[in-house]
Amino acid sequence: MKRLRGSAPSGIVWVRDSRPELPSYLALHTSLATLSCFLASADTTQFATATNVSRNSAYCQLISPPQNSPSGPHLSTFVHWQNHIFMSKIRGTFVHTPRLGYLDILHDHLIAFSDDGVITHFERADTPQSTKLLGNGLGKPVIVIPQGSFMLPTFCDLHLHAPQFLYQGTGLDLPLMQWLDKYTLKAESRMDEDPALAKRVYTRLAARLKENGTGAVLLFGTIKERTNLILAECMQSAGIRAFVGKLSMDIDITSPDSLTTTYVEPNASASLDAAKAFVDHCHGLVNHLPESQRLVEPVLTPRFVPTCTNELLKGLGELSEVRGIKVQSHLAEAKDQVEWVRAERGMEDIDVFDKSNLLTARTVQAHCTFLSPPDLDRLSNKGSSIAHCPLSNAYFSAKPFPLREALDQNVKVGLGTDVAGGYSLDIMNSMRQAVAVSRMRQGLNLMERTGQVEPRDLSVDWKEALFLATRGGALALGLEGIFRVGSPFDAQEIRLYDAQTGIGIGPLDYFDLEKEESAPPLSPEDTRLTADVIEKWWCVGDSRNRGRVWVQGNRVREV
Ligand SMILES: [Zn+2]
Repeated sequence: MKRLRGSAPSGIVWVRDSRPELPSYLALHTSLATLSCFLASADTTQFATATNVSRNSAYCQLISPPQNSPSGPHLSTFVHWQNHIFMSKIRGTFVHTPRLGYLDILHDHLIAFSDDGVITHFERADTPQSTKLLGNGLGKPVIVIPQGSFMLPTFCDLHLHAPQFLYQGTGLDLPLMQWLDKYTLKAESRMDEDPALAKRVYTRLAARLKENGTGAVLLFGTIKERTNLILAECMQSAGIRAFVGKLSMDIDITSPDSLTTTYVEPNASASLDAAKAFVDHCHGLVNHLPESQRLVEPVLTPRFVPTCTNELLKGLGELSEVRGIKVQSHLAEAKDQVEWVRAERGMEDIDVFDKSNLLTARTVQAHCTFLSPPDLDRLSNKGSSIAHCPLSNAYFSAKPFPLREALDQNVKVGLGTDVAGGYSLDIMNSMRQAVAVSRMRQGLNLMERTGQVEPRDLSVDWKEALFLATRGGALALGLEGIFRVGSPFDAQEIRLYDAQTGIGIGPLDYFDLEKEESAPPLSPEDTRLTADVIEKWWCVGDSRNRGRVWVQGNRVREV
């Protein structure tokens, strides 16, 4: 017996047997479950069946050793087999939005993904390759999504203040600058002073995000490094993809008669040092893991222009450029904030950011409600993204974000919940609010119509909103947000109705599908998902319709 060159992945050791009476043998030592998969290998051009099986090993005849490997198969060949052994497969209906306004409903498809969570196969379930995968017995048992349910990419939340989850759903009675002073800075300071509280709040936040189908989130944190590392640890251990921002702020915005203790870093230099340290330590949390398991990433986070000197902004711009680190902030959000910047800096928000090289393809800017069409063009040309937060805009911005115009000008846009300026963690609500606000804009547009010229349609529809919540947000974060080979498998199971009875799940009622108990079960044709059926879920559905959730192939939520 001779050991194979190279080291085999953990859990499996294999050797080559050179008994003269047979061409060659492999011995595989692993668990029984893995053995049974391996022995049913589809790669029969290279393997015959096992000749000897014991509890911990099996001998398989190698009929035709791979080329260029006189002493036996190479590790790469092994990895190929390993991918089959540990492959996960899901069969059912898949829904995604590959481009704006286009809903793809893919009936009876088979998706397979490898142990590291990357999609390796995605085709109709009746193609020759799918049939082969379904029939070879390799990998984990096939998960079948029943009729009446479907798989959807997980949602991306492009703007959420993690420490503000502490007071979610309260204190929405003031304009932005006063709201920050009275509620926000106090809450953030409290989290920095109490790591146990931070861990409790962030652990719950991660659980709520999964309940709401959010698989990737761009987070604002607090000033203090340790609190943000707790946030990153909570997201990593929950299995959520999280882009974590330590706040950078070296200007005190609290007023002299403020109720709040000052919440600010000492100066630009200290703030930049703290930002660099956080970047290193956040990377350090996951650097020991295989790349596919590193779910958290640091993000440079100048809070907004009023809290940052030009020196700090310039330093952050350089740091982002040199280290390739993402940037997030608030841009042209609210009337009082925009006026504050004009008075203090003598220019617009967007110019302040641009001067510091903070408008790049690595940047996501929240709100942008006060941007003009030329400003939107500028963002589009820079490749920067916008986190559209319709609910908090309604409370703080004084006017709606020009979503239709931004989309038409090819700006990258995703949706944000903006907790706690927004009170809902559910991106489903952000989608609905985005559509509702756009329809009000369209109504106003029609009423202000002058002459015979047909005004431009400023509304967006539910399919476009679904794109923003999945692929739009994903593209802003450098992710995929769709199902295709080579992409990570980030998905949520949506359950609409019982396939036997047609009875809706949770808040959903599909009267035309419901059957009397004595009636024969619904046929596959009856229960074939249509855009109408999905639209009802989009309008009325809630977390009761959500089943399992996967991020990078890991199942992070059970039902
Ligand atoms: Zn915000």
